[in-house]
Amino acid sequence: MPKRSDPRRIGIFGGTFDPVHIGHLRSALEVAEFMALDELRLVPSARPPHRGAPQVSAQDRLAMVQLAVADLSPLCVDDRELGRDKPSYSIDTLESLRAELAVDDQLFLVLGWDAFCGLPSWHRWEALLDHCHILVLQRPDADSEPSEALRNLIAARSISDPLTLNGPGGQISFVWQAPLAVSATQIRGLLASGKSVRYLVPDAVLTYIHAHGLYRAVN
Ligand code: ATP
Repeated sequence: MPKRSDPRRIGIFGGTFDPVHIGHLRSALEVAEFMALDELRLVPSARPPHRGAPQVSAQDRLAMVQLAVADLSPLCVDDRELGRDKPSYSIDTLESLRAELAVDDQLFLVLGWDAFCGLPSWHRWEALLDHCHILVLQRPDADSEPSEALRNLIAARSISDPLTLNGPGGQISFVWQAPLAVSATQIRGLLASGKSVRYLVPDAVLTYIHAHGLYRAVN
């Protein structure tokens, strides 16, 4: 019988990435290295259910994420949400990804603390842990409060050391991270007012933004 390989450790990090920036990339890289992930997939969302439409097309956002993570293993891009003609629900993404993995592969849904506090409003949120572990990025300046339902879930499912999350899914753990003070909103604002975003995005992304005339003010 062929030797069974070790379970793979795969993380997913969703976002609008409008555009991808160094805050996303440092955060993703740090969590991937800390957790010794085999892959951390950046998953651009098509029509995020919780916010307004992205400013640029899915194709441009995908192209920028691809440029940002080229040769940056273990970071990579997963474009499955962009093929869907409906809101990007994480539960659908997890179910379709799970169907491609071995049963004992470990899946980690990486969420910022603020996103985690909003979890009870997500489509079929109680089923998420059937497919993955949830890794929450805690930040020193966070000000969201978890609901009672979420506090109960934390009490029932969380473990203190993220490196001991075991099995394919079902548990929650927390990783402390000081985020870089940069956001896509800030970058769109700078570009719309004709200012430079150099060093806030990778150079390849900057070149793409300029070559395609993205985020310019509409006159
Ligand atoms: P926007 O300003 O348009 O709301 P954003 O910069 O927050 O965008 P998103 O695409 O909405 O980016 O975020 C995707 C994920 O990246 C989220 O989990 C978010 O918490 C995280 N994230 C965003 N900015 C940072 C940052 N500076 N450092 C670490 N994580 C970040």
